[in-house]
Amino acid sequence: MSNQPDISFIVPMYNEEEVIEQFFAKMDEVLSQIPEYSYEYVCVNDGSKDKTLEILKKKAELDKRIKVISFSRNFYKEQALFAGLDEAKGRCVIPMDADLQDPPELIAEFLKKWEEGYEVVYGVRTDRGKDSFLKRMSANAFYKIFNMIADRPIPANTGDYRLMDRKVVDAVLTIQENKLFMKGIFSWVGFKSCGVEYKRPERAAGTTKWNYWKLWNFALDGITASTTLPLRIWTYIGGLIATISGLYALYIIFRTLFLGVGVPGYASLLVSILFFGSVQLIVLGIFGEYIGRIFTEVKRRPRYIIDEKINC
Ligand code: UDP
Ligand code: MG
Repeated sequence: MSNQPDISFIVPMYNEEEVIEQFFAKMDEVLSQIPEYSYEYVCVNDGSKDKTLEILKKKAELDKRIKVISFSRNFYKEQALFAGLDEAKGRCVIPMDADLQDPPELIAEFLKKWEEGYEVVYGVRTDRGKDSFLKRMSANAFYKIFNMIADRPIPANTGDYRLMDRKVVDAVLTIQENKLFMKGIFSWVGFKSCGVEYKRPERAAGTTKWNYWKLWNFALDGITASTTLPLRIWTYIGGLIATISGLYALYIIFRTLFLGVGVPGYASLLVSILFFGSVQLIVLGIFGEYIGRIFTEVKRRPRYIIDEKINC
């Protein structure tokens, strides 16, 4: 392809009217320092309710390198990223947040590693000091648990900010899943990878589009998408509990035979009923998570609906 740009920037945007101008200004500044690379933007408007699309359209009219995909509603960032990857034509692809929390200054370093032969160069956040304590804690816990149980670990403190070679993007695009956990998918496809550390700055303007409920569900989706261990583990837990209760039963039988009937065990009975009741409910909940996933996948709905495309 002769008009293939070197880099495609994928920028998912949901109600980002406050930062768009700032984002492009900063990018122009950074990209002017590496004029040898040609580039395009694939901006994905994820059903914004503000002026995001309007502003993007104006930008796209002035610069044909700015492509816009507009969803019919909010489909969430993962789907927006996938749509962007699908549209990107570049020899390499870099997904970036619109709020400048993925510092564009890193692009030159990404490209250097890429020229050295790495097919994936991911950003590693060394400092999340600006995030709230609860967010840092929960993020840490998530990475720990995830990496303990997932089939393929994801490097701690990485986001979607990374450079991917065309090969990697093509591999990601072969994935058929409907519900996407991009970080898991990026790690699953493999390829020669390395990390580049950076300090994650504060949002340039506007507010985060996530809340804790959304994050919790995102974490559950991430885990159920990446491992079946929560399902399998109950065989072992069940086996262990059965063994312990078997031994306890033997003990009670012998005690009754030799010492006669003791004090009625009201407390221990109630505790064990409640304990096993809740264990069973938790297991049902875990089954439910996976059944829900199977259900969404077998429906085979499209991942997203595109309302409009500009410059594509
Ligand atoms: N985003 C999106 N759809 C959503 C939520 C977020 O496309 O439903 C975009 C958002 O516009 C931004 C990026 O995803 O470009 C990261 O979002 P945000 O900055 O709110 O997340 P945080 O940095 O707080 O994790
Ligand atoms: Mg952000």
